[in-house]
Amino acid sequence: KLDFAGKVLKRLGAPIREEVVHAVDGVDLVIAKGEVVGLVGESGCGKSTLGRMVAGILPPSSGTVMRQGRDIAGLAPAAAREAKLRTQMIFQNPYASLNPRMKVAEIVGEAPRVHGIVSRADCADYVDDQLRRAGLDPALKARYPHQFSGGQRQRIGIARALAVKPDVLVCDEAVAALDVSIQAQILNLFMKLRRELDLTYLFISHDLGVVEHLSDRVVIMYLGRVVESAPAVEVFGSPNHPYTQSLLAAVPRIEARKRAFKVVTGEIPSPLNPPSGCHFHPRCPHVMARCREERPALREIAPGRISACHLNDAH
Ligand code: SF4
Repeated sequence: KLDFAGKVLKRLGAPIREEVVHAVDGVDLVIAKGEVVGLVGESGCGKSTLGRMVAGILPPSSGTVMRQGRDIAGLAPAAAREAKLRTQMIFQNPYASLNPRMKVAEIVGEAPRVHGIVSRADCADYVDDQLRRAGLDPALKARYPHQFSGGQRQRIGIARALAVKPDVLVCDEAVAALDVSIQAQILNLFMKLRRELDLTYLFISHDLGVVEHLSDRVVIMYLGRVVESAPAVEVFGSPNHPYTQSLLAAVPRIEARKRAFKVVTGEIPSPLNPPSGCHFHPRCPHVMARCREERPALREIAPGRISACHLNDAH
């Protein structure tokens, strides 16, 4: 069970007050080797915080992150470094994480050389292989990041991640900043890499449509909690939770039958002061009296499928 409670500064007139925000609230997430898990929710729901915990960048305030059955917080320094290398993150804005003063060859080659994955003598060929694998022409490796388009920069970020031989990729809104046609190319690249390298993915997105063709399983988060988790075909075929239904209704690419659900209205409430009971109750079209007081438990509604909604108690 993972929790992350961080302190934020809140300006309520004057003075500024420090408040605790529970960004991730008792989340259990198991990702099997080779699986692609789509983690979906609106911004502020805690999915990026959870992704950073999975990648070992952010320690949970309580709970454990296990990798191959071992708690990563308890690893010896060398094993901890190895675990961190094996789980790489791909971010929404690769430009922010690409050093503008470094050529692509250095950006991609630096980490594998430093960590002894490739020798200095073999590094140039190794970099070429990573760039080719990410769909970039190695002839461009003497250029700087600003000389590339958004899609190409994302490919540079992917080549850099692949260069340290990861087995897990945590992709945080990795295609959100790209045009739709480029999005499709990068999503296809992720799928090709999955087949070639037997990669495991945690694919984080605010857009259910983006994870549709990619995910084996979809996990939906709302205000720090998991509200539904199910095989992707079931989430898209018969979403259970009213919040999942509303997310699906908002995806224009999804067939009309599924769009018959009501699109959720209103802003996501502040995680600083989440609603009582079911966090979704102020926006839920099916809200009942008990929803305002009682937190619905996540329960199995079918094999491999869990959902947290009081409506399921009637069945
Ligand atoms: Fe809606 Fe109640 Fe279910 Fe929450 S528990 S999703 S408010 S019906």
